[in-house]
Amino acid sequence: MPRYALVLVDDSGSHAFDYALPDAVADTLHVGSRVRVPVRTTTRLGTIIELRDTTDAPGVKPIAEVIDATPVLTRVLIEMAAWMADYYCCSLEAAMRGVLPNVIRKAEVGHRQRLVARLAREFSTEEIEALKKRAPVQGEIVAALAAAAAPVPVADLAGHAVVQALVKKGFVITEPAKMERDPFAKEEFVASAKLEMNAEQEVVFERVRVALGATDRRSPITDHAAKPLLLHGVTGSGKTEIYLQAIDLVLARGQSAIMLVPEISLTPQTVERFKSRFAASQHEVAVLHSHLSEGERHDEWHKIREGRAKIVIGARSAIFAPVTNVGLIVVDEEHENSYKQEETPRYHGRDLAVLRAQMEGCACLLGSATPSLESYHNAVTGKYELLRLTLRVDDQQMPLIRVIDLRNDAKRKGSILSERLITAIEARLKVKEQCILFLNRRGFSTSLLCEKCGHTCECPNCSVALTFHRGAARVVCHICGYQAVAPSKCPQCAAAGIRYSGFGTEKIEDNISALFPDAKVKRLDADVMQRKDAFRETLDAFKRGTVDILVGTQMIAKGLHFPNVTLVGIINADLGLHMPDFRAGERTFQLLTQVAGRAGRGDVSGEVLVQTYTPHSPSIQFARHHDYEGFWDQESEYRRGWNYPPFTHLVLVQVRGEHKERTLLSVETLARRLKEDLPAGVTLGDPAPAPLEKSHGQFRFHLALRTARVRPLSRHLRAVLDRLPMPEDVIVTVDVDAYQLL
Ligand code: ADP
Ligand code: ZN
Repeated sequence: MPRYALVLVDDSGSHAFDYALPDAVADTLHVGSRVRVPVRTTTRLGTIIELRDTTDAPGVKPIAEVIDATPVLTRVLIEMAAWMADYYCCSLEAAMRGVLPNVIRKAEVGHRQRLVARLAREFSTEEIEALKKRAPVQGEIVAALAAAAAPVPVADLAGHAVVQALVKKGFVITEPAKMERDPFAKEEFVASAKLEMNAEQEVVFERVRVALGATDRRSPITDHAAKPLLLHGVTGSGKTEIYLQAIDLVLARGQSAIMLVPEISLTPQTVERFKSRFAASQHEVAVLHSHLSEGERHDEWHKIREGRAKIVIGARSAIFAPVTNVGLIVVDEEHENSYKQEETPRYHGRDLAVLRAQMEGCACLLGSATPSLESYHNAVTGKYELLRLTLRVDDQQMPLIRVIDLRNDAKRKGSILSERLITAIEARLKVKEQCILFLNRRGFSTSLLCEKCGHTCECPNCSVALTFHRGAARVVCHICGYQAVAPSKCPQCAAAGIRYSGFGTEKIEDNISALFPDAKVKRLDADVMQRKDAFRETLDAFKRGTVDILVGTQMIAKGLHFPNVTLVGIINADLGLHMPDFRAGERTFQLLTQVAGRAGRGDVSGEVLVQTYTPHSPSIQFARHHDYEGFWDQESEYRRGWNYPPFTHLVLVQVRGEHKERTLLSVETLARRLKEDLPAGVTLGDPAPAPLEKSHGQFRFHLALRTARVRPLSRHLRAVLDRLPMPEDVIVTVDVDAYQLL
C-alpha cells in the first residue's frame, strides 16, 4: 500500500508536492486520481501523478479530500502531458490543463439528478380503466408508467400535484436518478449497413487490417504499433467508409477508437453518419466539440471514462479522451490547421494522435485528399506508410476545373462576377441544379477610403482595415472584434465622399440576389452563424433543395455532401496566396481542392470555375489538374531550398506589449540571451515586427528559430525565459511548430 502521493497542484506551474495518504483511502487512490490538498493556508485541487512508499520532503501534510478516486487521467495521458511540456515548452500544469477538460478539473458540475417516477406495483388493464373513469388524469399517468420501459421523469408527466397524489395513494414511487445530458437525445438514428468496398478500398483496407493486427484472428495484438498510415484519397473516394469499417473491426475486438475531425466538419451530417452506423450495435458514440454545454461535456466525458462509449469523435482536444484499450486513432483531414491549438499548450492534434498511438501501441490512420507537406514528407521518408485512393466511388469523374483569368475579362467592368460564372449559374438554375459560391472573406466592403483626404478606416487596436457589414450597418475589425457605426462622412475631414470598396460574402449574396431575383440565395459565414441554429437550418434547406445558391466562407468548403451541386464558383482564388506565410501556396492548393470536391457528388458531373488574377500560380494549376504529386514535387523543392518545414522545425517566439519601445527592447534582450549558448544546429533570426504588427492594442515582435531537433531548443528556451526578468506588461509566448505566422 503506497503511503505518499506526488500531487501536481492546479494552476501552480510545474510544481508538484508530496502528500501523505490517510490509511482509509490509501489503496483506493491511483495515479490520475483527483484530490484536494492543503497549500499554505488554503486547499487546492490537484492530480496525483505518482504514488510512493517514501518521501524526502519534510513536514508532509495529508491529503485533505478525495474528489474522484477513479483516475481522471490514464497513465498514457499523464505521459502525454509530460511529453507536451517538454516539447511545446510549457509548464507541466499548463499541459495538464490541455489534457483535462475544465469542467472535470473544476469539479463543480456534477451529474444531473432528476426526479423520476415508476409504478409501485403492477396494475391490470381493468384496474387502469377503472381509475381512468374515476380520475382521468391519474389514470393517464398510471397508464403511461405501465407502458414505459424505464422510469419516467416527473417533469414529463401531466402534473406534479397529480403525481404526488398517486405517491400518497401508494400507486407510484418517485426517486432521484442520474440523467444524461445528451445533445442528440431527440434524434433517431436509423442503423445503416456497411457498404461493399470497391477494389481500391479493398486494397487499402487490407493494409489497415494488417496495421490493426487483425489479419490473423488468433494472433495476439502486436506489442508495438505499426507505422502510422497516411491515406491519401481524393475527395469522395470513400475514405470515411474505410474509417467506419476499421472502427467496426476495433470494436469487434473489444477495443475502442478515437476519431478526430476538424471542428468545422463536425457537422450534424458527420455525426449522423457515425451514430447511425453504430446504432444497431450496443456501442455508444461520444461526441466532443466546442459547442457542448458544460453539463453535456461533463456527461460525455463520464460516458467515455466509464467505458460506455467506446467510440469518440471530436475536434482536436478529443485526442485526450479518457478511453482505455485504444485500438485505433483516426485523424480525418489531417492537413487541417485547426488541429493546431493557438493557445498554451500549443499542441498539434495530429502530431499528438501519432504520439498517443505510439504510447498506446495502437494503429494510427491519417486521411486527407491533400495531405500536409509534413505528413507527406513522413510518408516519402518511410516514417509513415502511404495508402492511396485515386478514384471517386462509383466511377464518378473528378470535377472539371476551369480557371477564369480576371485580367482578361474585359466584360467585367468592375463586377465581381465574370461573365462566364454568371452564364454558368444561369444554366444551372434553369435545370434546377444547385451552386456553391465560395469566398473566404465575410462582410460587405473590405475598405473604406475618403476620396478627399485619403483617410482609411483602420481598427484603433490593430494594424488592419475595418470591414463594412451592411446588414449590421457597422464597421468591424476581424482581428479583435472592435465595432463602430459605419461612418457616413469621413471621420478625419468630415467630407461626404467615402468610397466603399473590396468585397466579402455579404456583397456576393447581394449581387447574386440582384442578378437572379427568382433564385433562392443563402449565405453561411461567421456572421450568420451567430444565430445558433443557422448553420443547420441553412444546410437542411440546401439539402432539401429549397435553396438554389449557397454563398459562404471556408465553413462550406469541407466535408459537405450534396449530390445536386453541379457548380462551384471560387470568387477569388488569390485571397490566401499573397499572405506573408510560407504555407500560403499549400493552403491555397488545399482549399481549392477541397472546395472543388463539393461539386459533382451525384449523378451529374460537376464543374468548378476559379476566378483569379494569377492563373499561372502553381497552387492553382496543380489543383486544376488534380495533381497532388506535382504540387508536392514543386512545393517540397521550395521548402527544402529555403529550409522551411517539413525540412526543419520552426519555433516562433512572440513578444508583445502595449508599449512599443519597451516591447522591442525586451525582444532584443531575449534574442541576445538566446544566442549566448544556442544549442548546436539551431538558427536564430533577427527580431522583427510581426506581419500583423499591432493586434488587440499590443505591439508584436517575432523571433524565428529553426532546428532539426525540437527538445534541446525547447529546454534552452525554458531555461533562458525562467532566468530573464521581463517587464510586467510584456508577454512572451513560444510556439513550437508554428502555423500562425501573422
Ligand atoms: P471521402 O471521405 O473520401 O470524401 P466518403 O467516404 O464520404 O468519401 O464517400 C463518398 C460517398 O460515397 C459517400 O456517400 C459514401 O456513402 C459513398 N461510398 C463510399 N464507399 C462506397 C462504396 N464502397 N460503395 C458505394 N458507395 C460508397
Ligand atoms: Zn482590431
